[in-house]
Amino acid sequence: MPLQPLLSADALAANFSEIKPPLRPQEASVEANRCLYCFDAPCIMACPTGIDIPAFIKKIASGNPAAAAKTILTANILGASCARVCPTAVLCEGACVLDDRDEQPIQIGRLQRFATDYVEQKKINVLAGTVPAKKSGRKIAVIGAGPAGLGCAAELARLGHAVTIFEKKPQAGGLNTYGIAYYKMKPEVSLAEVELVKSLGVEIRCDVTVGEDIGVGQLEKEFDAIFLGVGLGAATRLRIPGEDLPEVRDALDFITELHTQPHSKIAIGRRVAVIGAGNTAIDAVTQSIRLGAESAVIVYRRNEANMSAYGFEYELAKMDGAQFLFHAAPVEVLGAQGHVTGLKLVQTRVGANGRAEMVPGTEWLEPVDLVLKAVGQEKQVDLLKRLFPNLNVDARGVVAADPLTGQTNVPHLFSGGDSSNGGREVVNAVGEGKKAAFGIHAFLTKETVPPPIQPSRLGAKQGAAGSGLLKPIRAHELEAALVKK
Ligand SMILES: Cc1cc2nc3c(=O)[nH]c(=O)nc-3n(C[C@H](O)[C@H](O)[C@H](O)COP(=O)(O)OP(=O)(O)OC[C@H]3O[C@@H](n4cnc5c(N)ncnc54)[C@H](O)[C@@H]3O)c2cc1C
Ligand code: SF4
Repeated sequence: MPLQPLLSADALAANFSEIKPPLRPQEASVEANRCLYCFDAPCIMACPTGIDIPAFIKKIASGNPAAAAKTILTANILGASCARVCPTAVLCEGACVLDDRDEQPIQIGRLQRFATDYVEQKKINVLAGTVPAKKSGRKIAVIGAGPAGLGCAAELARLGHAVTIFEKKPQAGGLNTYGIAYYKMKPEVSLAEVELVKSLGVEIRCDVTVGEDIGVGQLEKEFDAIFLGVGLGAATRLRIPGEDLPEVRDALDFITELHTQPHSKIAIGRRVAVIGAGNTAIDAVTQSIRLGAESAVIVYRRNEANMSAYGFEYELAKMDGAQFLFHAAPVEVLGAQGHVTGLKLVQTRVGANGRAEMVPGTEWLEPVDLVLKAVGQEKQVDLLKRLFPNLNVDARGVVAADPLTGQTNVPHLFSGGDSSNGGREVVNAVGEGKKAAFGIHAFLTKETVPPPIQPSRLGAKQGAAGSGLLKPIRAHELEAALVKK
């Protein structure tokens, strides 16, 4: 049967409301006053964009949220989205010293949101005046208007360079605009950040695919340096029979639909299976339930401890009613009259080499009508090689770039974000874009500016964001009860 929308517009509006409500002024003040304003604060070291967290918290405590927002946004132009989407429990809040004293860490993300929302709602551009009047005369092209490209462009503009971003989609923002779970952040927040970047004098040309609408040769003629931040590709294929049936979908396309279509028009299965157990899989399973699916199950070939989803994401999915089938792998999608009717699964076990292997003779059938693929995104090696034939791409299929400057083996080409790091978080992409901006500045002017980014101590100690670290859920992550359909 073709799929259909299942819930009314009102039920959907309730199900997709934000799960982390904003702090009220009084709450923000109380929370800010709990901060110890640590010397050599570990929370700063844990932030890939090096936001001076105690400084901005102190400004909130002293009743000056606009100044707090300036501290945040000068370090991280996407401070408003990072406040909503960062895995704070494994970054700044995970490093907060109060955590070591068995107290609740400071709610840094929510305080950051309080300050950035304040200036957005009051339409105060705290970055006005941070772009030098005297221009360098240098021009930089940025390929891709995702968090990496925007982070790089904003910093370059503030260093006095002229920047043009080329973006293939109709709107800028990358996955921040098109891919983040709707209940974490609405696209409007990302689009407001795009406007902030433009307010620094950055030109953004949307609907322009580099390599199709404009060639790299032309960019090299017109610009002094190029930043490459094209992200990752489509979902990795399952390579099983039945995969091409219409109700077998890339989880990312499904999530994008939530950002581009009215929710009441989105068709959803009654019984959904999501293949994979990373954060994208969690976003897909929870949003399926919120769209009205009667059952939604994650199918994963290993066990709970091996899931790459963060602990708090896993808990959220369980609270939403998601089921989990561990030690199971799909072998075939079954269909009738051209539509999905079920998924044939097989049990798996850990083999001698430590990898999951199928157990022969253990196949069974799960009746499902929608299968969402979330087993990772393809690396864009073909695109990278087509754009820059001499570019070094490493064994993982991502751009090999200097970790401090983002410079590649092509001297005028710098890189950052998912297409360089293999897929991490928004804040990593912004931080890498920013580092590359300083690398480009040094390359073009021979001047170095103090590196704004502290090495992430936590990243080195615990495994950086995206490493699969499972941490117990913190109460405040889930304090907003989920609105059930
Ligand atoms: C489903 C999903 C949920 C996620 N949820 C979170 C979350 O909750 N929190 C979090 O911190 N991170 C999350 N992430 C990760 C985060 O979104 C990425 O790490 C981040 O967006 C990477 O930024 P980027 O700029 O490198 O790439 P992208 O955001 O992918 O941006 C790349 C941009 O380049 C453009 N582009 C590509 N090719 C060309 C070309 N040839 N010409 C012009 N433009 C081009 C693309 O259209 C795109 O706009 C999630 C990722 C996914 C897939
Ligand atoms: S570690 Fe915690 S208490 Fe110390 S400055 Fe950072 S937020 Fe404040």
